[in-house]
Amino acid sequence: MKAAVFYGKENMRVEEYPTPEINDNEVLVRVKSAAICGTDVRMYRNGVKNVDENHPLIIGHEMAGVIEKVGKNVTAYTPGTRVAVAPNMGCGICEDCIRGNGHMCKDYKALGISLNGGFAEYVRVPEAAVRGGNLIPMEDHVSYAEAAITEALSCVYNGSSQCNIRPGDYVLVIGAGPIGIMHAMMAKMAGAVKVIINDIAENRLELCREIDPSFITVKDDVIPFVRKETKGHGVDAVITACPVPAAQQTALEVAANYGRICFFGGLPEDRKMVPLNTNLIHYKQLICTGTTRASLKQFKDVLGFVSAGIIDVKKLITAEFSLDEIGKGFELAIAAQGLKNVINMD
Ligand SMILES: [Zn+2]
Ligand SMILES: [Zn+2]
Repeated sequence: MKAAVFYGKENMRVEEYPTPEINDNEVLVRVKSAAICGTDVRMYRNGVKNVDENHPLIIGHEMAGVIEKVGKNVTAYTPGTRVAVAPNMGCGICEDCIRGNGHMCKDYKALGISLNGGFAEYVRVPEAAVRGGNLIPMEDHVSYAEAAITEALSCVYNGSSQCNIRPGDYVLVIGAGPIGIMHAMMAKMAGAVKVIINDIAENRLELCREIDPSFITVKDDVIPFVRKETKGHGVDAVITACPVPAAQQTALEVAANYGRICFFGGLPEDRKMVPLNTNLIHYKQLICTGTTRASLKQFKDVLGFVSAGIIDVKKLITAEFSLDEIGKGFELAIAAQGLKNVINMD
């Protein structure tokens, strides 16, 4: 098969690679679309532990395709079924897994992160994922590209759910990348009356307004802006969708009484210690949380939102490439140009 094979820091080559073999309990999926995520960009730029010229990895964890082949013990799936592929799998037996949170499992593995993933013509789906229900049949009208993006949206849904956004809420999203815009869309879906998006890049904010003219955008002086927009109330929910420590401090400042804050974007290792005015949490009775990845249930829910047309992810796809052109997709993602870059295998 053809695959974009990652050999370590800034070294990915599109080449022939052995088509994965499956055992009796596994499934082979023919990948149709795979989306480039911020995580892929981080892996590409920083390298990945234990991945080198002799131990390559096929990355890409946001994917959808068609079931090509099933092992002889697999009864739940049949070849030809169009599926969204949820990449995360847990051990299945620890406390987190039993609670339905395989994405938090200590022995967590994921396609495109620790196992070969979606930037290839085929992906092997291990037994843990087959048994776990990671292959979710798609409705005919949902495209592979939309289904691929569902993974990122499921992580956003996890963060958004923690903020318990209710009809009538004011919401602020800090960071207008694809993830930030997805948060804004989710907030609106949940009934927010005002969704304010803050970013330092004007072109990003322009894109936000194009996607949904009801989004209110702000570049500078976000604290007085929020105060004015909310008539002094503050925002009921704040999501930091950027790796910036100051955004976390701002979040506490602009939150209304009983506000909910999600530190969605992780911080670089060397900047993770952030001085926060915890009296703001105390006196405003704030709830501060953070999330990572998403449960399978959340993935399935989000695919349902996309199917039902409650959330339109098509607008987020700003460029599509063939597998041969994947380098161009990474260039755009690295330059933070556009939103989701999708690789189509045909
Ligand atoms: Zn992702
Ligand atoms: Zn587990």
